[in-house]
Amino acid sequence: MIGRFRFDDEVFCGTVKGERVVVERGLYCDTYTLDELEILPPVNPSKIVCVGLNYIEHARELDMELPGYPMIFLKPPSAVIGHGGDIIYPPGSRHVDFEAELAVVIRKRCRNVSAMRAGDVILGYSCFNDVTARDIQQEDGQWTRAKGFDTFAPFGPFVVKAGSVDISNAYIRSRVNGQLRQDSSINNMIFDIPALVEFISYIMTLEKGDVIATGTPAGVGQLYPGDTVEIEIEGVGTLENKVVKA
Ligand code: MG
Repeated sequence: MIGRFRFDDEVFCGTVKGERVVVERGLYCDTYTLDELEILPPVNPSKIVCVGLNYIEHARELDMELPGYPMIFLKPPSAVIGHGGDIIYPPGSRHVDFEAELAVVIRKRCRNVSAMRAGDVILGYSCFNDVTARDIQQEDGQWTRAKGFDTFAPFGPFVVKAGSVDISNAYIRSRVNGQLRQDSSINNMIFDIPALVEFISYIMTLEKGDVIATGTPAGVGQLYPGDTVEIEIEGVGTLENKVVKA
């Protein structure tokens, strides 16, 4: 697992091994413990491409028709926060939801990548929370404002390299204040990861560090100031964030 960290004023990447973080510096290695480091978002994406309605049961709970192709939208990179960062509840909304999602991190600049070649451009996986102001989403009819608030893209804690984990049947769960809210499997996706990479990369160039958020399963629900929300994906990790008043 690879993470990005801050210690004093220094920002660096390191390999996470249990509670230890190993940082290579030329010929030498430094070792830290996780609790002495600030965990930053694992990459700085130039864009976050989100997939709406990629699990059948979630489309049903929102009473929306199943799309015949991936429904995509963008979240701005300014919305990204890392593990442990605060989700700020915007004063303009009365209904903010969590959405547990698998994040796919892109390894290199690419376009027109066929599904068969998708593995070549994937660095790895992380946990993502597609925080959504549901009332604003319904009011606007398009999703930029509802999904684009600062802090509405919690992401992390680390990136698990694609070759080191098989996520095809991994569970994906969310908990609010320790209570299980979503519990599904990555294999319930309507459009799988290779199909998404193909569909998106035929539209736009993907840059190194870009993130594809692959949609949420059923069971989304509201967050309130004071809540702690966790997104857990088997073999990938647990992303935890607190909700605070603006
Ligand atoms: Mg979503």
